[in-house]
Amino acid sequence: MPSFNKKALALSLLLSATAPENMLAFQSSLRTTSRVASRTISSSTRMFSTETETEKEAGPQVVVNEEAYEKVKMDDIVSLCKRRGIIFPSSEIYNGFAGFYDYGPLGAELKKNVKDAWWKNFVTSREDVVGLDSSIIHNPTTWKSSGHLDGFSDPMVDCKETKLRYRADQLFASPIVLEENDETIGWVCVQEANDEDMVKDAKKMAKKMMKSTEHKEKKIQAFSFRDLTEVSEEEMAQIPSPGSGEPTLTMPRDFNLMFQTNVGAMSDASSVAYLRPETAQGIFINFKNALGTSRAKIPFGIAQIGKAFRNEITPRNFIFRSREFEQMEVEYFIPPGDDVWQPFHEKWMQESKEFLIDVGLREDLMGWDVHEGDGLAHYARACTDITFRFPFGTQELMGIAARGNFDLTQHSEGSGKALDYFDDQTKEKYIPHVIEPSLGVDRLILALICSAYAEDEVNGEKRNFLKFSPKIAPVKVAVLPLLKNKEELVSVARELYDELKKRWNVSWDATGAVGRRYRRQDEVGTPFCITIDFDTIEKDAGVTIRDRDTTEQIRLPMDEVIPYLSKQIDGY
Ligand code: ATP
Repeated sequence: MPSFNKKALALSLLLSATAPENMLAFQSSLRTTSRVASRTISSSTRMFSTETETEKEAGPQVVVNEEAYEKVKMDDIVSLCKRRGIIFPSSEIYNGFAGFYDYGPLGAELKKNVKDAWWKNFVTSREDVVGLDSSIIHNPTTWKSSGHLDGFSDPMVDCKETKLRYRADQLFASPIVLEENDETIGWVCVQEANDEDMVKDAKKMAKKMMKSTEHKEKKIQAFSFRDLTEVSEEEMAQIPSPGSGEPTLTMPRDFNLMFQTNVGAMSDASSVAYLRPETAQGIFINFKNALGTSRAKIPFGIAQIGKAFRNEITPRNFIFRSREFEQMEVEYFIPPGDDVWQPFHEKWMQESKEFLIDVGLREDLMGWDVHEGDGLAHYARACTDITFRFPFGTQELMGIAARGNFDLTQHSEGSGKALDYFDDQTKEKYIPHVIEPSLGVDRLILALICSAYAEDEVNGEKRNFLKFSPKIAPVKVAVLPLLKNKEELVSVARELYDELKKRWNVSWDATGAVGRRYRRQDEVGTPFCITIDFDTIEKDAGVTIRDRDTTEQIRLPMDEVIPYLSKQIDGY
């Protein structure tokens, strides 16, 4: 190996864009060792390997707690996000604002990485999808044509006593029926949650209700929940409001979720406009523009990432359902025909799933939900959701819909402009049909944080950490000079840090014991820590790179650091 000096370091870092041939073999053996969390390391790795201050001797003994996620509550996730600077309640100094959230230093990075990964996967690395960034406020006629003005609503019930509002389809009522004679002696009403929690809440409520009656000691039948859109007026007159505990709920009525604003100096009916409740309509109204300027041919897609706003009746479960959020949507235009859409729909389902796994979603927490019957919009051919098991239950993460040509037809009629496509091969003119994969950025971030949530024991010491995929981790690498007051160590570490910073978000951490610094990085999900120690400067022995998940350390020559990290972080 060449003898070490700082100039050589700078040069080798600059020259290291391509990996030496032996890197490939080295990396594949390394990947295997880290995947199985084994102590076995390849001979080429062992050649460079020396011990660092921490996690040395026999090597780390890591015992993973596979059950950690099962016990996690939403409150744990919310406080973890706050403590680590990922997500804060909006306007916190004014006591917050329900349904709005701010992303902190790490959250902003995480969000950007997620959006970049999606854009790269579905736009820039494909030949059949182009990007778009439309305005948030459109001509209000857009929303008349799309059907949002008349139909974008949720069923709402009011509590006349407490003035609280609930989504009728998120409140579940059940009669309390005696086991001995099938007599209904009252009702319970609970908020939607996972089955176990709903039953627990209902039992508590029933017990409280029966306490002061002659039925106190009697056994009751299992609950049979129905949401409040499915109950009759007579039943509603007996169902207790979760707010007052008395039957004070109104019957459900529709509540439009679009936020209104006024555009221009006048504040009257003629100036009313809406904050977009989805990014999709901005794509449809730009169909002709994008088609005409990109020379795209069907099948092709237009993708957009951007803010959407919904005046949710009950924003809940942290960023899962908020009033301001971001969406990543594609409208993928295809030819009409009953036998055409299905393979495209299936392909988008598959590709969506692969993307989600690739950015770090736990496959064992994911599922499919196929909409049928009433769950399917009247114009849609199919809609399948990818679900995720959050701590509060399994819920929609994203939807993949085959929407026919409803949207373009509506906008064509509403605007009086032709929104059709001429196929120069078949000489056919038609309004294209569309497949719409639609994914919420914030909902995905919540699922990614849940997927990353991990606990283990390293050498008998409990560790909580975030197992973010290197692709989306807010900080990719931390550079740690072994001692902060040794100029020789610090200057080499700084030089490496400056080089890495050109490529990724990198953290500099020079204070405290190395073991404590590792833990600090583990907590925020930094996948790699690079330590510069005396062997680096005195023996030209390269640096140690520690893997967050296995806590394994390897030694690499300085000029192999960037190729190694590129492969791990960017995949090439
Ligand atoms: P839900 O039934 O949960 O209200 P939806 O079916 O209305 O969702 P879509 O209109 O299909 O949702 O929106 C597409 C995606 O946008 C959703 O799958 C979700 O990821 C995200 N999304 C929708 N509403 C919200 C919200 N209020 N907060 C955060 N993300 C949202």
